[in-house]
Amino acid sequence: MKSLNSISRSESPLLGRGRGEASYFTIQELCASATAQREGIDNRPPTSAYHLLHVLVEQLLDPIREAWGAPILVSSGYRCKELNALVGGAKNSHHLLGCAADLIAGSKAEHRRLFELIRQMQQAGKIRFTQLIAEDDFRWIHISYVPSDLRCQVIGDM
Ligand SMILES: [Zn+2]
Repeated sequence: MKSLNSISRSESPLLGRGRGEASYFTIQELCASATAQREGIDNRPPTSAYHLLHVLVEQLLDPIREAWGAPILVSSGYRCKELNALVGGAKNSHHLLGCAADLIAGSKAEHRRLFELIRQMQQAGKIRFTQLIAEDDFRWIHISYVPSDLRCQVIGDM
């Protein structure tokens, strides 16, 4: 199991984000997968996905985590084709590009609050995203950031 990102911003490791700014999320945790490990799948991202994961963290995950003020676990981030097929992901899933993350923050009630927070941040012009989805009645929150398609689509209402 991955640990929750409970460390403070100043304590978290720098990951070459280029501007000396530490992140709440590591690329490693965005690529970690128990399924990939079990099945012996190499889920390391290609350069393009690695870059897009950084953008996802910088544009969405870090600002959301900062506003949320409590740990958020990424249960699934980047998925190579093989892993995506194994976990039943859509064929054109944004996870394949390194543009999506599934967020876990506690109970369904907390996921509703986090979902609402993300919507409010978007409405206030603080963030933009491609899709925000309440998956399986708020069992987790899917969010994606495809730089060329920031349509701010919200699926799964309160
Ligand atoms: Zn997802």
